[in-house]
Amino acid sequence: MNRDAPVAVLGAGWAGLSAALALAEAGVAVRLFEAAAQPGGRARGVSLHGQRLDNGQHVLIGAYTETLALLERLGTRHLLREQSRLRLHYRTLDGEGFELAAPALPAPLHLAFGIATSTLLPARDRWPALALARRLQQQDFGIDQDRPLLDFLQAERQTDLAIGRLWTPLCLAALNTAVDQASTRVFLRVLRDSFAGKAAHSRILVPQADLSRLFAAPASERIARAGGQLHYGERVHEIRLDQPPFEVRTVRGRYAASQIICALPHQAAARLLAGDARLQALVGRLRSLRDSPITTVYLDYPAATRLPQDFFAILDGVGQWAFDRGRLLGELGRIAVVLSADEAHLGWEQERLGQVLAAELHQCSNGLVPAQPSSIRVIREKRATFLATPAVEAARPATATAVPGFWLAGDYVATGLPGTLEGAVRSGRQAAAIARSRAAGA
Ligand SMILES: Cc1cc2nc3c(=O)[nH]c(=O)nc-3n(C[C@H](O)[C@H](O)[C@H](O)COP(=O)(O)OP(=O)(O)OC[C@H]3O[C@@H](n4cnc5c(N)ncnc54)[C@H](O)[C@@H]3O)c2cc1C
Repeated sequence: MNRDAPVAVLGAGWAGLSAALALAEAGVAVRLFEAAAQPGGRARGVSLHGQRLDNGQHVLIGAYTETLALLERLGTRHLLREQSRLRLHYRTLDGEGFELAAPALPAPLHLAFGIATSTLLPARDRWPALALARRLQQQDFGIDQDRPLLDFLQAERQTDLAIGRLWTPLCLAALNTAVDQASTRVFLRVLRDSFAGKAAHSRILVPQADLSRLFAAPASERIARAGGQLHYGERVHEIRLDQPPFEVRTVRGRYAASQIICALPHQAAARLLAGDARLQALVGRLRSLRDSPITTVYLDYPAATRLPQDFFAILDGVGQWAFDRGRLLGELGRIAVVLSADEAHLGWEQERLGQVLAAELHQCSNGLVPAQPSSIRVIREKRATFLATPAVEAARPATATAVPGFWLAGDYVATGLPGTLEGAVRSGRQAAAIARSRAAGA
């Protein structure tokens, strides 16, 4: 191995940035390549019709321990609005509101008490849900055989109302996968991370600044300050892994690399690796992964318009979660509505989708939100996350590959987590730790 060549990190999403930052701060020479002009990947600020918006509304949970520690070190943790305890609001299209709030009890009691005391479900639907929550806690949220979450919930005697109101909104928000397809194992892992550790792990945190300001911009600045080289706007079109030093080829040049951390989306990684005979099994796995969309619809109203809460789930609507960007980010009068894993409305015209969602907001807020928004902006991310099915979960690749010195990072890497910021950050930091110890031992 050529010890002098830097480690190349491909892709400056949250995974690549986390990897590059960990290496640069450890004194390892690093070059970060990103095809887009700006970093951040699937979680970044964008300019749309002259307005600064996020490419999609994001939320974090207290169980994102590595992400939160990283934001703390970057000095941007304060840009997250954190609940003092878990509190979820729900509204029907009839304007009825419900709450699921965890009392100030130590984990894991707060989940059971939250369900037991919530008005979201009538008693006959609530008790089976409570019994399931208790059973899951007793078995540490583990299962022997993975299967679709809906099958699991039905076998566990959950009523249709409990599935529709309690489990489905959580599954869509956490896994971006419909409940009849979602991996029970991944879903239970999220529940365990949120509810089996500290009570603080179940709290929701919502960014109060645009996503680039929260992470990509300060992370890039820190990498550059630590001596890392940023090649933004420089797409990688080929890599050579025949023998070390490896080679990274872009439109601008050819760069030697002692090791490579590939933090590209799985489709791009599969394309880049297709020609390498040693990596054919990996390419097969990458090609078997499937994606799931997320649509964020931004609706603008007069500045004084407020939702009844910072955010809430819309029950039985086309929209799933609504966020008051005025309350949260100071974007007065702006409401973001999120549709996860929603293939059904991808083909709808933007205006039509916006009008349907505006009508829902008007109804479920009991007229607090005016009937007509002044503007509608729709951002569709067709490949927002991988589809977290049992088959995909079984196919997710590890950090290490058949080529020593060539490592994978990205939210799709087998961390056990769904496609999330925390999955991306953990995968990036793990790849960096391995690359770093290899660099030290070389
Ligand atoms: C609309 C939306 C809403 C979401 N909501 C949430 C949420 O609420 N909470 C949560 O935790 N997660 C959420 N996610 C998921 C989260 O954003 C992703 O899991 C995470 O950003 C993935 O990061 P990554 O680094 O693995 O991949 P990416 O962000 O995809 O990074 C890969 C990078 O590689 C670059 N690239 C591609 N090809 C090349 C090439 N040939 N050469 C160089 N660079 C290349 C890309 O431009 C990109 O910047 C959401 C995602 C979306 C899209």
